[in-house]
Amino acid sequence: MPGDVVRCENCGRRNRVPAAATGTPRCGNCHQPLPWIVDAGDEDFAEVAERASVPVLVDLWAPWCGPCRMVSPALAQLAGEMAGRLKLVKVNVDEAPKLQQRYGVQAIPTLMVLRKGQVVARQAGAAPAPALRAWLEQALQR
Ligand SMILES: [Zn+2]
Repeated sequence: MPGDVVRCENCGRRNRVPAAATGTPRCGNCHQPLPWIVDAGDEDFAEVAERASVPVLVDLWAPWCGPCRMVSPALAQLAGEMAGRLKLVKVNVDEAPKLQQRYGVQAIPTLMVLRKGQVVARQAGAAPAPALRAWLEQALQR
């Protein structure tokens, strides 16, 4: 399973981050936690999201969705702030009809927080970054 390359904000080293792992990704150079942002679909969602070692923020989005593009940078920012404590999993619902049906996605973006595969929080529609942060922090305390 190939991962994405992310740049360490602490030292600038480029690291390859796996889609699924038992721990959380850290910089190979300075060992700071790295933002964990990966894509998943119908086939690998169980491995990438449901069996993740940390809480997962799921972004159900589609390429044609304007509000999705608005929240995407805010979600990436949160993944950076909460590196080591959170995994951001992005699901393109156009390519994941089973997940769309399973979670009854009516509107996108739909954001969900999963803890050990269970949905502990969910919200539909875009929101400004501070509102998303507050929602996420509350969900992580559950
Ligand atoms: Zn580093």
